[in-house]
Amino acid sequence: MFCIACFLLAILFVSCSRDSGAGSEPSPPPSAGTTAPPADLLTNEPRDTSPEPPVLPPEPEVELVPFSGDVEHLFFHEAIAWPERAFGGHSRQRGYDTNMVTVSEFIAILESLYAKNFILVDMNDVWSEYTEENGSLRMRRNTLMLPEGKRPLVISFDDLSFYGYMQGDGFMDRYIIGDDGDIWAIGVDPSGETVISQDLAVITILDKFVRENPGFSFGGAKGCIALTGYEGILGYRTQFDRNNDTHAARLNRMQEIARVRPVVHRLKETGWYFSTHSYGHIWIDNLPLSTVQNDALRWMDEVGSLVGDTSIFIYPYGARLDNGDVWSTGPALLFYHDLGFRIFASVGREPFSRIKPDISAVMLDRMPVDGHSLRNRRSQFIRFFDAAEVFDNSRPNYGVSW
Ligand SMILES: [Zn+2]
Repeated sequence: MFCIACFLLAILFVSCSRDSGAGSEPSPPPSAGTTAPPADLLTNEPRDTSPEPPVLPPEPEVELVPFSGDVEHLFFHEAIAWPERAFGGHSRQRGYDTNMVTVSEFIAILESLYAKNFILVDMNDVWSEYTEENGSLRMRRNTLMLPEGKRPLVISFDDLSFYGYMQGDGFMDRYIIGDDGDIWAIGVDPSGETVISQDLAVITILDKFVRENPGFSFGGAKGCIALTGYEGILGYRTQFDRNNDTHAARLNRMQEIARVRPVVHRLKETGWYFSTHSYGHIWIDNLPLSTVQNDALRWMDEVGSLVGDTSIFIYPYGARLDNGDVWSTGPALLFYHDLGFRIFASVGREPFSRIKPDISAVMLDRMPVDGHSLRNRRSQFIRFFDAAEVFDNSRPNYGVSW
């Protein structure tokens, strides 16, 4: 049952699934990212003088063949750039271990996915809406046309807000636009140096991986960014604070909004797309309908206004609207449906999707990739990667099941 303490704890640890985690020995942290072309905010940054990566030749013409099997779906949170900080013995260590992967793990997972012939597809391309003869709108599964031998994969990333509690705990601080017009991440390393890098946060790591391995993305697709709004988005405090409605707070908010807009624009230009993750990371199955509705409207107002239209709802904690909306349709699901949402994603251990027969909606599950699942689900991940090979031994010694 819902309780305030559980809620606060859960918010603290950004758990998007209902799973909880449980270890190993220390090893060197992943290599720190290169400092890079300076971004919009700092003028005194060390500049990377390394040469631009080579421009790769276009992919050779490949034959596209229809694919009608399962579309796999993995999800992550922001990656831990400096494990020695995230796992520094403080009270948040367990939560980070449970819910996050480290940068070295994330890179190793991408390499394995590519080696195993997965190719990123845009979730919005997997299903589409059509009008039945009687005028009703319904969803249907599209036949994906993919390079022969490729296996479609959707990746989503939850809670890319760089919440306040994460600051100083081994994560970058926000995404920015570099002087090159590309997305970079900025943060402060454990020695106190400001770092601008494309090697230390999930978005830029995936961007770079696709640049170097264009065959990993179909049509330039990257990932779905699932955002809450209560602490802003992408490291910018764009939220309206009802408890601090001063001129200075409003001005600061406007500045944060102005700074994040070009980041959002560049992300959308480069294959990223957005979804709601609720405004307040709320338990959508357990709260009064009016609370769920007000939360949805606040997300549309404060986040949807920045990221644009989306038809995807990625459920916080994996809880389902109306306490179970796969086989029944309740008022909260209908409310979201009327707002234009069509794809509703929870958490599961296998590929799952179901097209609703009564409304225009598709319900699906995503597999969490995090410390808990790496420690406990090696066999379920083996078609993607070997958890034993990607596992970062700088994690705390909480044990593994393999
Ligand atoms: Zn979440």
